[in-house]
Amino acid sequence: MRTSIQVGTIIGIPIRLHFTFLFILLGIIWGFAIGPTWEYRIPLGLGDIEMDPFLRYSLSSIAAILFFFTLLLHEMSHSYIAMKFGTKIHSITLFFFGGLAMMDDIPRNPEKEWRIAIAGPAMSFAIGGVFILTYFGIKTLNLVIYEPVEILVFILGFFNVILAFFNLLPAFPMDGGRIFRAFLAKRMPFLKATKWAVLIGKIFAVIMAVGGFLANPFWFILTGEIVTGNILFPLLAMFLYIAATEEESATITFATLEGIKVKNVMRIERTSVLEDMPIAELASKMLEEKTAEYAVVNESGELKGFVTFEEIKKLTAEQRHFLRVSDVISPFNSVSDIILEEETAATEALKRMVRNKRNVLAVKGEVSGNFVGIITKRDLAIYIEMLKGSA
Ligand SMILES: [Zn+2]
Repeated sequence: MRTSIQVGTIIGIPIRLHFTFLFILLGIIWGFAIGPTWEYRIPLGLGDIEMDPFLRYSLSSIAAILFFFTLLLHEMSHSYIAMKFGTKIHSITLFFFGGLAMMDDIPRNPEKEWRIAIAGPAMSFAIGGVFILTYFGIKTLNLVIYEPVEILVFILGFFNVILAFFNLLPAFPMDGGRIFRAFLAKRMPFLKATKWAVLIGKIFAVIMAVGGFLANPFWFILTGEIVTGNILFPLLAMFLYIAATEEESATITFATLEGIKVKNVMRIERTSVLEDMPIAELASKMLEEKTAEYAVVNESGELKGFVTFEEIKKLTAEQRHFLRVSDVISPFNSVSDIILEEETAATEALKRMVRNKRNVLAVKGEVSGNFVGIITKRDLAIYIEMLKGSA
């Protein structure tokens, strides 16, 4: 399911918008337009100012879009530093609670990781500082600019400072959690450092869910007053908790596969079928060999694609009767997406499966260049479980 659309490209990085981002954008416009101006110690919206509704919502929309650009700048800073360390950035997606830069390989190097992690909050602090100084500059010099604009300038600054502080909480996988892990990883193995950082991140998430619902923590820090929290905190906490868990299991998987090569995991028997094989025949072959994935080759042994039980399952009895393997093979864009060399790291195979949304890849011999086997996600998963069990 496509949940995000590409809206542009900056310094070669595709910028995507997740559908949930639209909700937060509308929420921000609404918050700016009717948020209390004088009720608290700092202005939070144009709500207490008498003005034309059209102008109110227009200015709020402009401010909300500017806020979107400052979020983007935060993510761009992470990406920029990562690119300097040679990491490829696939895309930046803006969604519900902020942005996410999809990086090829987050460096497992503490020195690099903390620099990449701190770049975002540093940018948010800088932006926040510029906006807030502008606001106080206007006030100090007694310049008369349109009041709602001044207020929005202040709010943008304030939001960026909040964003920076919030991201610096040592709750993995937020930026602060990454910095914390890098700090630990200099003193202990990467996997152990990740487990600690994830644990702290989860504790933070639980505190945020419960505390944020009962009383707004930002508000308490700002003013010392206790006001009711809202549902956004438990939602954000849930998102953080899931992200922390995912990152932990990914790290465990990658650490477990350390040193394992494709040739250790690949299957060298029951690997391929001919493209003109009838589906009915393939179905009984699968059953007989208890195998759900095959590479498809032509008469001269050339790789044509793959066929898996997933495709066969969708066919009607009639279709199975007259279709051949070549009618159902899953197509591929480029050969490099589906062929690995046997000496390649198993982690690379896993990454490529995830990136290309494939459950099976072909393996060629390093010397011969011939097709020598296949590697499947299922085999990898079993292999990882066995490695864990034997550790
Ligand atoms: Zn960040």
